[in-house]
Amino acid sequence: MPRVAFLGLGAIGTPMARHLVRPEFDLAVWNRTGSKAAAFATATGARYAATPAEAARDREVVVTCLPVSRDVEALLGGPDGLLATLPEGAVLVDCTSGDAATSRRIAARLAERGIGILESPVSGGVIGAEQGTLTVMIGGDAATLDRVRPVLANFGQRLVHCGAVGAGDALKAVNNALLAMHIWGTAEGLVALEKAGVKAEVALAVINASSGRSNASMNLFPERVVTRAFPRTFRLALLDKDVGIAAELAREQQIVAPLLQLTSELFRLAHRELGEVADHVEAVQMVERLGGALIGGTTAPEQA
Ligand code: NDP
Repeated sequence: MPRVAFLGLGAIGTPMARHLVRPEFDLAVWNRTGSKAAAFATATGARYAATPAEAARDREVVVTCLPVSRDVEALLGGPDGLLATLPEGAVLVDCTSGDAATSRRIAARLAERGIGILESPVSGGVIGAEQGTLTVMIGGDAATLDRVRPVLANFGQRLVHCGAVGAGDALKAVNNALLAMHIWGTAEGLVALEKAGVKAEVALAVINASSGRSNASMNLFPERVVTRAFPRTFRLALLDKDVGIAAELAREQQIVAPLLQLTSELFRLAHRELGEVADHVEAVQMVERLGGALIGGTTAPEQA
């Protein structure tokens, strides 16, 4: 079994890393804010590492889960960087929802040292990470995937080989662009229905038994919007980044994709308006403000 390091104990990285706390992996953890890694190590028995280099020393597999690919790229160089200690033959498993161009640049840099890479963005959310039921979209060499499968299988229920490095990033971005479209579109429809006198509970009961349903209408709106709970599990800033990657993919491929471009604009606007800590579902509140009605609520919010 490989020894493993995990870098990036954020909202989804933390529950993913917990599944790797097993004697055979001898897990080492690093986080930019060191106190979080120290607390994780104390709570779980994992090894605390003060730098990426310390985490990667003598590890065969290093898992990263950071906001964007450039954050991962920035951890490679310098005396504290991963490349200072990561041995030849090791594999970087990058679970960041990243962009293909940067992932390919990282892959080229690692290849010079005989280090492999699997870009491995995940879907399933924080709950999926807690339950170990994530879908992992893997770009990279199939033989390398077979070597690290025993590591990924601890947090991933579905390990899908999507193609070469960059394929997983592209697929993840398109999936999340669809999520964003469903959130925004469902919000517009429900605000219009509220104003027309149709309650959200009634509308969702019908939509969820009909062809307009989606994960947003079936889960996010009943659990987070109608209840006004809006838990913070996946930052709007990260969804904005994902939709931007999907829109860029469409431009690179020179396809006509006005919906992707518009969704990217809308989420950039929502991100700017609602800030860095807002959850992705809070974008609904912007649609409510623009429309002048609350979904499932009784009082109309201020007009934007
Ligand atoms: P969070 O914002 O909760 O956490 C980000 C993590 O990255 C923190 O550990 C943070 O450290 C660290 N970090 C931020 N910037 C840097 C940097 N420049 N250098 C080094 N470390 C840095 O993000 P999530 O955990 O939610 O998301 C991580 C990735 O997973 C993203 O790409 C996201 O799109 C993806 N994802 C998230 C899902 C979710 O439901 N949350 C679902 C599927 C994918 P610090 O503690 O110091 O801030």
